Amino acid sequence: MLRQYELVERVKAYAPDADEDLLNRAYVFSVKAHGSQLRASGDPYFSHPIEVAGILTDLQLDDKTIATAILHDTIEDTVATQDQIERLFGADVGRLVDGVTKLSRIETQTESQRQAENLRKFLLAMSNDIRVLLVKLADRLHNMRTLHHIGKEEKRRRIARETMDIYAPLAERIGMYGFMEEMQELAFRHLEPDASDMIAQRMARLRDTTGANVHRITGALESLLRAKGLEASVTGREKRPYSIWRKMQARQMSFEQLSDVMAFRVTVADVGECYRALGIVHGRWPTVPGRFKDFISTPKPNGYRSLHTSVLLGGEQARIEVQIRTRLMHEEAEYGLAAHWAYKQGADGAPAREAYPWIEDLLDVLQDAASPEELLENARLAMFQDQVFVFTPKGELYQLPRDATPVDFAYAVHSDLGDICVGAKVNGRVVPLRTRLVNGDQVEILKGKVKAPDPAWEAFVASAKARAAIRRHVRHKRREELQAMGSKLLDALAARLRVVLDDEIMGPALGRLKLHDRATLELAMAENRLSDDQVAEALVPGATARRPRSARAKAAAAISIEGLTPGVGFLLCDHCRPVPGDRIIGVRAPEGPISVHIMDCDDLADESGEWLDVKWGAETAGAAARISVVVHNQPGALASLAASIAAHNANIVGLALKHRDREFHTDIVDIEVESVAHLATILSALRQVKSVVSAERVRL
Ligand code: MN
Repeated sequence: MLRQYELVERVKAYAPDADEDLLNRAYVFSVKAHGSQLRASGDPYFSHPIEVAGILTDLQLDDKTIATAILHDTIEDTVATQDQIERLFGADVGRLVDGVTKLSRIETQTESQRQAENLRKFLLAMSNDIRVLLVKLADRLHNMRTLHHIGKEEKRRRIARETMDIYAPLAERIGMYGFMEEMQELAFRHLEPDASDMIAQRMARLRDTTGANVHRITGALESLLRAKGLEASVTGREKRPYSIWRKMQARQMSFEQLSDVMAFRVTVADVGECYRALGIVHGRWPTVPGRFKDFISTPKPNGYRSLHTSVLLGGEQARIEVQIRTRLMHEEAEYGLAAHWAYKQGADGAPAREAYPWIEDLLDVLQDAASPEELLENARLAMFQDQVFVFTPKGELYQLPRDATPVDFAYAVHSDLGDICVGAKVNGRVVPLRTRLVNGDQVEILKGKVKAPDPAWEAFVASAKARAAIRRHVRHKRREELQAMGSKLLDALAARLRVVLDDEIMGPALGRLKLHDRATLELAMAENRLSDDQVAEALVPGATARRPRSARAKAAAAISIEGLTPGVGFLLCDHCRPVPGDRIIGVRAPEGPISVHIMDCDDLADESGEWLDVKWGAETAGAAARISVVVHNQPGALASLAASIAAHNANIVGLALKHRDREFHTDIVDIEVESVAHLATILSALRQVKSVVSAERVRL
């Protein structure tokens, strides 16, 4: 066990300004508080918190974290209280110890209570202050190192399982591979004792039969690199049983088939030397195909960087793995986030920030951070603020962008699940799909039978993946409908022109319009990019000259309104859109045109100018009315709508999708009609169409 002065010395070595007094008081307090309590090993209990603190000095953490480690079990296991800790050691240490205590309470709950809750709470707590997590991980690591002292096999297995499932992955997430690996190896021994023994025995046999020898290969690598003028330190080791076991499982191989059981680490000064060393190794021994990985140019998501390769040592017929990295990368890999934190403390040279993009941002913002606390607080923000962690009913963890909804979750699990999602339960309760998920939510997706993502989802999803999937689907559906509608429009036009749309007509017409095929033409018509006149002209050149111009074209010129001097400009109100037959009022602005409104148009209130009593003239042509049609979401709905309007000799001059949900969509359609009576006929005809729910005139 570390003695008091040794612990303080260790901290002072990397943090000369550390609060020595704080550490001393924490040490004495912990020893007193734990008193004569004993560990399962027979050691005094307080040896445990002191060792945990020792582990954290390797990570060069600040004095408050070390004090927290020393005190971490006092509230839970002794008579000490939260108030006492806070009063004696300050608010920060108080808060940190409280955080660790809360995590420990989760551990001591019974299995069944804990099942669903523990992971969530853990993650929540983790996002509170990263130091709480670091202390907890060190605590768990030390408990794993001493797990063999615990008598009950069942208890050992439970703790080992938890370490394997929760703590090792957490260590990995924050890049602490050293912690992760040690936890896994220790847990493996208790979870799979037979497999663990088997691998250890075979390792021994392998050493005997092949003569493969870590020490000799290390030497060979080192002298090879030195001969090429590269100053490198090489360490080698046999892979650990758990890592071998996992590989056997993943590749479905027996131990005998698995030959690269030795791994070597080459540490050099900079990135350039990494690649040089790689070249030297590859130049000397044949590589194993498919095993080279460049995590320097493409770091792992948690920032891990290294070159990995495997080579065949000819004489020994042994396959070895070689990892090449800089010293800095090495420390990052061992200590992850904690390494960065230590660098910021000024313990070493400049941190390689580019490996952790979020740290890069963070450090830039925080050049003037007043305190390590502030830095860590922001580290938390950078790391977790833009994310939310949620669970499947089976407890699988998903990481989603902040503000994610059940729809984002569904698409994150699988794009098919997103497409058939019709509802969701969060923590067992049915909720609206637009509900924002929060950390720890358990989400269950309710599935429908058909793929029908709702276009309205796009407005609230948070992930790019969900948005892209919804858009793709909507585009697809919309295109199908427009295509169907365009086809009707083209047929109707052909009927009016009395032409048959065979190749003889279509070929030259498409040529004139510079369009590729009939489908493109139909789409252009449906989207109103080509007018009937333009298409008519292409189908039958000169046709438009022989036909009366469309009602729309005539509208502006031909509407006359009684009481106005002919030729005086007028504007039909864009909101109420009067058509012949409406009772109308004209407003003469001081300068400019006369605006014409339906007499109860809301805009009248805002118009300044002289009101004129105007009436439709005898020679009026059509005008565009605006209607809103609610239609069932089903294929062909738009087309039957268009067909009905066309059947009543009206033209669609504008079409916009206003709102759409799972069952219905609302289209705003501008149609040219001759009169109010004509419009009324069309509306009642539309209401007879099967897919139409309602049709009415609107003012927008
Ligand atoms: Mn503990």
